[in-house]
Amino acid sequence: MKPDLKSNVANEYSIKKDYDVIVVGAGPAGLMAAISASRGGKDVLVVEQKDIPLKKIYATGNGRCNFTNLTFDDKVFRGQKPEFAYEAYKRFDNKALIEFMRSIGVISKDISGYVYPYNEQARTIAQALLFECRRLHVTILCSSRVVDIIKTDDRFEVTTEKKDRFECRDIIVTVGGKASPTHGSDGNLNKVIRRLGHEIILQRPALVPLTFEDKKFSDLSGVRLKCKVTLLIDGEKTEDETGEIIFNKDNISGIPVMQLSRYATKALDEKKSVSLKLDLFPDMEEVELCKLVNNADKDMSVSEALGLLTNEKMAQLIGSLCGLENKRVCEASEKINKAVAMLKGINVKINGDCGFNRAQVTSGGVSLDQINSDMGSKLVDGLYFAGEVLDIDGTCGGYNLQWAFTSGYIAGSAVSGLSL
Ligand SMILES: Cc1cc2nc3c(=O)[nH]c(=O)nc-3n(C[C@H](O)[C@H](O)[C@H](O)COP(=O)(O)OP(=O)(O)OC[C@H]3O[C@@H](n4cnc5c(N)ncnc54)[C@H](O)[C@@H]3O)c2cc1C
Repeated sequence: MKPDLKSNVANEYSIKKDYDVIVVGAGPAGLMAAISASRGGKDVLVVEQKDIPLKKIYATGNGRCNFTNLTFDDKVFRGQKPEFAYEAYKRFDNKALIEFMRSIGVISKDISGYVYPYNEQARTIAQALLFECRRLHVTILCSSRVVDIIKTDDRFEVTTEKKDRFECRDIIVTVGGKASPTHGSDGNLNKVIRRLGHEIILQRPALVPLTFEDKKFSDLSGVRLKCKVTLLIDGEKTEDETGEIIFNKDNISGIPVMQLSRYATKALDEKKSVSLKLDLFPDMEEVELCKLVNNADKDMSVSEALGLLTNEKMAQLIGSLCGLENKRVCEASEKINKAVAMLKGINVKINGDCGFNRAQVTSGGVSLDQINSDMGSKLVDGLYFAGEVLDIDGTCGGYNLQWAFTSGYIAGSAVSGLSL
């Protein structure tokens, strides 16, 4: 059968007004919550503002959907209370997720620990989730933005922009954060969430490229380099990451930069000075590099000699930053040490980030101080949250989708009375 992604999307005639559970937002957290609530016997409506469900999932992992990882350590979840995510993860971990995917027809494969659907196509995950929703008679209403949620006695009244009104006993809010608003998540429900009594920790772009101040680095646009990146805040070394970085016209991207970005954006907001120190040869000592450069033909320019070791454009930039662009190796004397030192530590001053449009995830969100371990609100009975809307963000590697699926599964189980 040709899969039809809209086939289980409700139309105005098929829809009722009253459900056991309403899920707001048809992202991965929302559909997982809907599936687990429905498997627990609940009658579920999912309300989505975009014209199709799961819009973001198609973009994940460059269209391949890296939905979890074989390795988990104590650094993969971040937020004010990362321990909350680890506790939840114990109840629905990577093995449980891989098994769940298999149960709905998706077999997986791992590439260096990163787990993808076997055919490396994100749409497979979308289709499988939607087919499971259809099998369970979960109703999905698209092109309907929820604009209000009101608690009346023991029920919730949900209003959409089109003035449709629905009622339910339990509600699961899975509207995502603010990252990548073209896919639907833009914080539009924050006012309503706050009015329900919940605090939202300041939301910032995370897993985002960082912009640099010094336009000289624009000359490196297109250059990719493997290096160790250390984040300096007010001159102090903080975190570091190793991997490939990519220079663009006014920013640096690549996994190491993205991983460090949540700390950089916070420090910049706090008016601290931020720079990235790039070690282009993390496995070699400076003395060794010095010897190599000094061994080069003495008639070579310094940039040419450095260019034997690193990218040519980077070598030229280092030459010019050291005032050696026209100097030959034999004329450079001690200054050559300065140039070599830059191979081990060139500082790029950071002045901002590329914003939510380019961010893969949001740091901050609904404060976990007010959320129970079953994702239920401590303040409003019957109100649940799951996914990126909560104050948890993961590192690159499938941890954000794992969090969305884990928290969605737990919330859906909780509304159907199943304790995990
Ligand atoms: C380019 C890109 C690549 C990524 N790659 C990966 C990856 O490979 N691995 C990984 O783990 N993570 C990846 N992520 C992150 C991951 O996609 C998200 O963390 C995850 O989708 C969050 O799931 P969610 O269900 O909480 O929120 P979302 O996926 O953001 O879904 C929220 C849904 O709520 C809807 N919504 C919002 N407001 C309303 C409203 N008022 N009424 C109705 N509906 C509403 C939105 O339209 C949206 O459909 C990537 C993100 C991006 C942008």
